[in-house]
Amino acid sequence: MKKRKSIIQCSLLTTCLTLILAGVCFIQSSFWAVAEDEKKKTAQVESLKKIVKPDAEWRKILTPEQYRVVRRQGTERAFTGLYWNNKAKGIYHCVACDLPLFSSDTKYKSGTGWPSYWQPVKKEHVGEKIDRGFFSTRTEVVCNRCEGHLGHVFNDGPRPTGLRYCINSASLKFRKKTETNKTPKKAKPAQK
Ligand SMILES: [Zn+2]
Repeated sequence: MKKRKSIIQCSLLTTCLTLILAGVCFIQSSFWAVAEDEKKKTAQVESLKKIVKPDAEWRKILTPEQYRVVRRQGTERAFTGLYWNNKAKGIYHCVACDLPLFSSDTKYKSGTGWPSYWQPVKKEHVGEKIDRGFFSTRTEVVCNRCEGHLGHVFNDGPRPTGLRYCINSASLKFRKKTETNKTPKKAKPAQK
């Protein structure tokens, strides 16, 4: 009888220990998941940490035309910029702080003479400001990291967003998609 009791006690103890162990494992794994999540969030926030520089510093970094457009809300003349007709695949970054802004995948021919996109790479990378002019109110778009002027956004774009991000080439720096992912061509066997 005593033996039976101790067997029951022993198995109860084992069950308890297993349950505790499983609980600890669960807590630990969810802790890691939360930690990973936090890491990702921090990386995102880091990439959007505001870059503030004195005006003289921007003048050094940018060409006079880039400075006029990016820091003085200027507009380049239509059909004169570097990228209005650029059809290469890649990403358009902010010319001042290098934040990725637009992809060639969302670039389209708008006929306006400025590079036009229907969506930014990430919504949080592009900020919007109300631009009240003499005759009209437009929505100005800026780089959300350095506050550099990019252009304007209008509601006459193509599907699926219906938006037209009309951007100055002078505000952008194009980085061509690298071709490293392509499978290398097989070398031809040497002819005898
Ligand atoms: Zn920027």
